[in-house]
Amino acid sequence: MAFELAPLPYAFDALEPYFDAKTMEIHHGKHHNAYVTNLNNAIAGTEVENLTLEQILGNISKYSGAVRNNGGGHYNHSLFWATLSAHGGSNPTGELGEAINNVFGSFEDFKTQFSTAASTRFGSGWAWLYVKADGTLAIGSSPNQDNPLMDVSEIKGTPILGLDVWEHAYYLKYQNRRPDYIAAFWNVVNWDAVSIRYHAAKK
Ligand code: MN
Repeated sequence: MAFELAPLPYAFDALEPYFDAKTMEIHHGKHHNAYVTNLNNAIAGTEVENLTLEQILGNISKYSGAVRNNGGGHYNHSLFWATLSAHGGSNPTGELGEAINNVFGSFEDFKTQFSTAASTRFGSGWAWLYVKADGTLAIGSSPNQDNPLMDVSEIKGTPILGLDVWEHAYYLKYQNRRPDYIAAFWNVVNWDAVSIRYHAAKK
């Protein structure tokens, strides 16, 4: 069964002025679409076609570089779109808000640590808020299209919030100013969606 590119759950211009419409259109329609197409090409006619994306990523060391890059790319972008919202930017509340305060000190401290992970990831990659096997929260980053679900990853767990720091995610609007893009990100985070993923990951 082939993987499919889901439509964005909002209009391309929904995250303006923080994420511009042209970037969203190209990022979803060209970049993410290419990961899906290339993943399907890489697994066509193999046993991998019968696995879920999570099953593939959890055993990614068994598969080719094409499956790793494009499977990761498909998963990471799917999570990214689903945890952004035009009505984002509020603070996390409830159990997730409490856990963030407990682990990182405060929401402001959390944002600082996550932003540092995103700004110091050299080259292309992702910054993550993820849930470790023991149920606790952690911040980290990974290169290229890797993520904490992968058995080859230095950081391991279930990602619940990710920030794409590939230049294709911000160059049209922010050029080389990755810190400005990271600062803008906080205005479009859908904390309700992140909270749902937090509870699912802890089960
Ligand atoms: Mn991307």
